[in-house]
Amino acid sequence: MSLGLYVSVPFCRTKCTYCNFASDVVPRAVFERYVDRLCLDIESANSTVEQMGGQIEPLVDSVYLGGGTPTVLDISQFERIFVTISQNFDLTAAAEITVECAPGTLTPAMLKQFQLLGVNRVSLGVQSFVDEEARAVGRLHDRRTVMNDVKRLREAGISNVNIDLIAGLPHQTVESWEDSLQQGIASGVPHISIYILEVDEDSRLGRELIAGGTRYHAHFAPEDELTADFYEMASERLQAAAVRQYEISNFAKAGCESRHNLKYWTRLPYLGFGVDAHSMIKANSSLDSADSIRFSTSDSLEKYIAGQGLERTAVSARAALEETFFLGLRLTRGIDLREIEAEFGKGLFAGVIAESIAIGLMEQIGDTVRLTPRGRLLSNEVFEKFIAPAENLT
Ligand code: SF4
Repeated sequence: MSLGLYVSVPFCRTKCTYCNFASDVVPRAVFERYVDRLCLDIESANSTVEQMGGQIEPLVDSVYLGGGTPTVLDISQFERIFVTISQNFDLTAAAEITVECAPGTLTPAMLKQFQLLGVNRVSLGVQSFVDEEARAVGRLHDRRTVMNDVKRLREAGISNVNIDLIAGLPHQTVESWEDSLQQGIASGVPHISIYILEVDEDSRLGRELIAGGTRYHAHFAPEDELTADFYEMASERLQAAAVRQYEISNFAKAGCESRHNLKYWTRLPYLGFGVDAHSMIKANSSLDSADSIRFSTSDSLEKYIAGQGLERTAVSARAALEETFFLGLRLTRGIDLREIEAEFGKGLFAGVIAESIAIGLMEQIGDTVRLTPRGRLLSNEVFEKFIAPAENLT
């Protein structure tokens, strides 16, 4: 089974107020030490897999550079990561190679490098096409920059572009959200991700919203109900433009779904490198108590560079079953109960499924179960039922 590789580059030009990722603004001198550690980890991937008690195939059909803003690296550092990957894994000819990019960071030299290295997909962190909204959360680009980046990418032969948008940003209104959606559609990109603003203690804006304060324009954030309406608006507008929903947050034109991200939801193997990077691989067949192995690196930059050990979890067959449900249900196509039955046994979670259907959060068509549009809005509530006490199993 082909592998996906994720490489985290946790550096940014500024820290966006809503950001709850392990990314930061650091002196450029740190980049080199970080890339050194990344390359060492990529080179020792096979022995790490062995130590973790897992197994992998050498074939790689997706590479994803995320973060952070990978395009802040020097060209030579960027190239070194790719060369190290190609020296240590077998990339398939049609591998999907994605780089996340903050609009306005794509220099002509970096774009040229993309072409040389075979980058064939770019994900642009737009968040809003309304300049006031983007500025208010610390983004450094404007609408014109985004449209120009899309045009330059297309001219360079990279038309497989994703645009991220966030519903629930300060100053967002029905009209401004409509504007962002229409601009996203007009840009012609084949993939759009719609995220709902995460309100938690891990971002400055999140903390301010929880505290009910006014810093970071928090008091201009729309109410939760309005944000939920924005999500529904997005589904309708994108669907009408043939950019169809295939996952809770992801919409694509036919054939342009993200191969890399699909691995996460279908439990296909992947290795993650860099700060706060996660891996999931099949357990070594001699470990008959585990279905698969998950392991992750530290979310502290200094600890990561110092080579601090990995955190490992053996995923039991029961946990794998739960994951199959709550990850698979993220997909609009749903999950096939026959396949689950063949792998794990008959009638599992039948009560939870019946109850979710009865309250309109799930639906069943033949052997397939999936979330309803309302279920997608309340997805966390549904997923919790699949990580629950043993009595829910039947
Ligand atoms: S560019 Fe992305 S990773 Fe960096 S601070 Fe902003 S949201 Fe976070």
